[in-house]
Amino acid sequence: MPAKSKPCRFFSSADEMRDFSRSLQMDRQSHGFVPTMGNLHAGHLELVRQAQKTCDCVTVSIFVNPRQFGPNEDFASYPRSWEDDRAKLESLGTDVIYSPEAGEMYPPGFSSHIEIKGLGDRLEGEFRPGFFKGVATVVGKLFMQVEPDKAFFGEKDFQQLLVVRKMVRDLNMGVEIVGVPCQRDENGLALSSRNAYLSEDEKRIAPELYRTLCREAEAVAEGASITDVQKRAVRRLEQAGFGKIDYVAVCDAESLEPAKETSTSRLLRILAAAWLGRARLIDNVAIHQ
Ligand code: AMP
Repeated sequence: MPAKSKPCRFFSSADEMRDFSRSLQMDRQSHGFVPTMGNLHAGHLELVRQAQKTCDCVTVSIFVNPRQFGPNEDFASYPRSWEDDRAKLESLGTDVIYSPEAGEMYPPGFSSHIEIKGLGDRLEGEFRPGFFKGVATVVGKLFMQVEPDKAFFGEKDFQQLLVVRKMVRDLNMGVEIVGVPCQRDENGLALSSRNAYLSEDEKRIAPELYRTLCREAEAVAEGASITDVQKRAVRRLEQAGFGKIDYVAVCDAESLEPAKETSTSRLLRILAAAWLGRARLIDNVAIHQ
């Protein structure tokens, strides 16, 4: 991948970021945005590549957002690798890295939030209360600071992509949301920063999540009972060595409402979240009917 000759710019304050974005707007340059929490892998880098294909300038934010972690979740231990991230983004020719300070994102007395009712309450929202409120609030803030034309999100976090799309529509944010297919290891495991928590044994078990979802997506497409499919998937994951299975759910691919046995919707998705050791893995697969 040839590096661009322009050096990467680094911003850590919202004012600097917005001033730069406005200068792009004056020059009629299109601005693509990839929000991340860092510890970048090939999944994140694919978002950057997709952004570079259609935007004159690409900004990547790195911010481990404390407000999307529950009190018993892994905020403190979430992997952070600034030097590595920076090198990866520079070698791709990223134009801007924006890493806002937590104190500026959430100054004392901060008390405003964005909540996406319904869509944000299901699945991940049920098992991680407050998660989507944290995500939507930080993404909304970042959109107001970066003022992008387009923003790129991975289908790995399928519900998050839908929640962001809904927020943008509901609040007229004027940002085009682009979904990018999930990037996987050769064995099918969805790339994720949290895969770093897996032991060698767990790494051998982890790809079973994707295999199970693919198998059961095919079964639904062939007319199998949705209840049976969901139960069988849970059994398979338990037998493979997963711990608690938070959910395996066949849903409408837009509303994420549970699919009915008699559903005539052509657009379904099977989504799952399951624990393996201290890692909570999520994945999802489209159902082609
Ligand atoms: P994160 O740093 O985990 O907040 O993720 C930042 C962005 O990268 C989100 O839009 C994720 O959906 C996306 N992402 C994470 N893993 C992958 C993957 N394996 N394939 C595609 N996109 C991904």
